[in-house]
Amino acid sequence: MDFFFSLEALPPITDTTETVCGEEAMTTIKSTCSRCGDVKLQPSDLALELDPAEDSGTYRFACPTCQQVQRRPANARVVSVLLATGVPYEVVRSDQITETEIAQFAEALGKDVDFISLITSTT
Ligand SMILES: [Zn+2]
Repeated sequence: MDFFFSLEALPPITDTTETVCGEEAMTTIKSTCSRCGDVKLQPSDLALELDPAEDSGTYRFACPTCQQVQRRPANARVVSVLLATGVPYEVVRSDQITETEIAQFAEALGKDVDFISLITSTT
């Protein structure tokens, strides 16, 4: 598996040009397309998928040259750098436990308890 990501090796990808004469600072994120090699991206070109159970995640971007969607693992450091540059993120749950499921579970527990007390009361 190829794993290229300049973030690993380089100190911040961030090419944050200091504001000059009112121009907005632009953050350039350098990454690598498996077909095209080095590509330069804006934070809005990337999306982070975060797993709340871990401090790492995955980031993805569409290569500006070939449009192929690339996905790369992001460790905690990469995640924090990407978040700091304003990359949008979404939370992906791997444990599949949702609040609804917890509520349903609690509800089911309650029913069980009632059921048991029902039995014990009839005996
Ligand atoms: Zn490409």
